[in-house]
Amino acid sequence: MKREEDIGQERFEDEGLLFLSLRPKNLSDYIGQKEMIGNLAISLEAAKVRGEPLDHIVFYGPPGLGKTTLAHIIAYEMGVKITTTSGPSLERAGDLVGILTNLQEGDILFIDEIHRLPRVVEEFLYPAMEDFRIDFVIDKGPYAKTINFNLKHFTLIGATTRAGLITAPLRERFGIFYHLDFYEDEDLAEIIKRSSKILDIEIDDKGAFEIGRRSRGTPRIANRLLKRVRDYAQIQAEGVITEEVAISALKTLKIDELGLSQTDRRLLEVIIIHYDGGPVGINALAATMHEESETIVEMVEPYLLKIGFLKRTSRGRVASKHAYFHLGFAQESDIQKKS
Ligand code: ADP
Repeated sequence: MKREEDIGQERFEDEGLLFLSLRPKNLSDYIGQKEMIGNLAISLEAAKVRGEPLDHIVFYGPPGLGKTTLAHIIAYEMGVKITTTSGPSLERAGDLVGILTNLQEGDILFIDEIHRLPRVVEEFLYPAMEDFRIDFVIDKGPYAKTINFNLKHFTLIGATTRAGLITAPLRERFGIFYHLDFYEDEDLAEIIKRSSKILDIEIDDKGAFEIGRRSRGTPRIANRLLKRVRDYAQIQAEGVITEEVAISALKTLKIDELGLSQTDRRLLEVIIIHYDGGPVGINALAATMHEESETIVEMVEPYLLKIGFLKRTSRGRVASKHAYFHLGFAQESDIQKKS
């Protein structure tokens, strides 16, 4: 289905080599999120001065904002190794034994989607995080033995799009929490200019700003749109991304004035047309859209909530009057009746 392809594409490109090369390597290359970066720089410096490993850290915020990138930057800045894994890929406690026992002093273990760790794995992590110790059972029946293993003092970095789903005992074992918010248009334009240099694409300031402001506050989307606009510029224009070229290319990609994609618009249309503007529960909404509710909650809704097109109420999702206007649905008087 078209919408799934649209979302899948973002995931697929994450794994490409090109993607890796666009990733800023150190703190000074990192654009935006100034306040958080300032705090992070202090924590890194303090740990270095004390000669101690960092506290365990959680990065939380919508997908594509730089959580994985930051984990790699921290490893680079601290001069340590990073091992990456993800919550859903760790099925049994045993999957973690090899990883944990291989970590050296100060090394980083990055767990993406940490809110999706199975319960047994999570409980196995508690003593590892708190006392740098693991207990595991080998053999079965009468021969079963518990082995205690002392670990090196490592740093766990967790990333999550759903901070609310991290259990209280796990949350308590993290020392530092950083929230990543959507980026400003100016920062996205900077990111696009930096990526253009790496990809060797000619782009002017206005062209970069036009793509940046339609990237839904998200660097991953900015990089993705840049690559698509580049294709257009090379084939349909003279290889240079100007404001005009960006506007025409984004039109062919069905990215609207505000940067909303077909999926975003469809979600709002479903609420307005099928559910009279809402409120509608997430499961009903997902079923009507033929999407997973998780995909909607994690990948589509956050930006619509941020720009005030969608409201979450105790009775479900409601489309705001701004959404009606943007999609050209109704006169203000009708909207007021509905809300
Ligand atoms: P997350 O882990 O939050 O889903 P990633 O760290 O994978 O996000 O970032 C997605 C993409 O956006 C990567 O290609 C990365 O290079 C780019 N990116 C993220 N933050 C920045 C930034 N501040 N400056 C430049 N590029 C960034």
